[in-house]
Amino acid sequence: MKVAVRTLCAFTAKAGDLDVRFTPAPTALEGQEGHAAVAARRGASYQREISLSGQHGELQVRGRADGFDPDRGRLEEIKTHRGAGALARQPANHRALHWAQAMIYGWLMCERDGRAQLELALVYFDIGSRRETVFTRTLDAEALRQHFVQCCEAYLAWARSEQRHRGARDAALAALRFPHGDFRTGQRPLAEAVFRVARAGRTLMAQAPTGIGKTLGTVFPLLRAMPGLQGEPIDRLFFLTAKTSGRALALDAVATLRRAEPALPLRALELVAREKACEHPDKACHGESCPLAQGSTGCPRRARRRWRCRSGTAPRCASWRRRIASAPTTSARSWRTGPIWSSATTTTFSIRARCCTR
Ligand code: SF4
Repeated sequence: MKVAVRTLCAFTAKAGDLDVRFTPAPTALEGQEGHAAVAARRGASYQREISLSGQHGELQVRGRADGFDPDRGRLEEIKTHRGAGALARQPANHRALHWAQAMIYGWLMCERDGRAQLELALVYFDIGSRRETVFTRTLDAEALRQHFVQCCEAYLAWARSEQRHRGARDAALAALRFPHGDFRTGQRPLAEAVFRVARAGRTLMAQAPTGIGKTLGTVFPLLRAMPGLQGEPIDRLFFLTAKTSGRALALDAVATLRRAEPALPLRALELVAREKACEHPDKACHGESCPLAQGSTGCPRRARRRWRCRSGTAPRCASWRRRIASAPTTSARSWRTGPIWSSATTTTFSIRARCCTR
């Protein structure tokens, strides 16, 4: 089992309120330029993009540390931001997440080089003023190792259950039967073409008339193709629609499949624009303003209704899963609320708990 350092930390160290005040974030290109600018200020011996990896049980953790300054013996995690006041507005949980990343890289480097301790630095680079703000900590290898083990254990507990689910899901999808007796006219050729290109990892552009059952004719073969005959199986299927009516059709297609095979261990998650899902349009998206933002990026044990504004975080404990499972369904549809599945990290979307899952 493999996991990137960034994913490991996003899963284990993300906590606290949803808070989008530390924005706007620089673009990816601005971020790269910021990293290069910081590196250019260091000495000639400065190392960039250091590949590091470590093992805990069956979990392999891999990633690239931003930079290491051998003259100072300092491992740097570089973050770019925009605007002088942005850093002052940065929520504590964002900073904690950055430290978690630095500490994981810190342990991987200590283990690789046999170091007893290491200086870690968070370097915040303002892409506007080109100024750096640096926070440092010096930690023992043992403290870093304990943090690494703690993160890996937390991740493994979830990853093992996910692995079991995916095994069961793939076995069920491999035997999935078309939910209706016959295909409609034109539906079978469409389904066959979709299946073939999905298995081959290629792209299909198709035009089909109204009424042949395009939605089920694409969703069904894609689900059948997910387990894969060889190579990498398809893990997630994204159905993008331009209109709400198209979204409803896709959800109905999944509901049809589930009616035909009620035991199908399939999870379907509807992502909607935050503006459409917002329950408090008069409030701002942070815990001091909106109750639904409170505790929404961590394990929300305190309030039953906060599950509605979890913008892209994964379930991470039994109490969270139990709470979600017992939460009331708000949809007019008969979809059952269940454990939320997602690793999306955007705050542009909110997860509306209309999650058909098993
Ligand atoms: S309910 Fe609205 S204001 Fe509150 S966190 Fe969600 S999107 Fe933001």
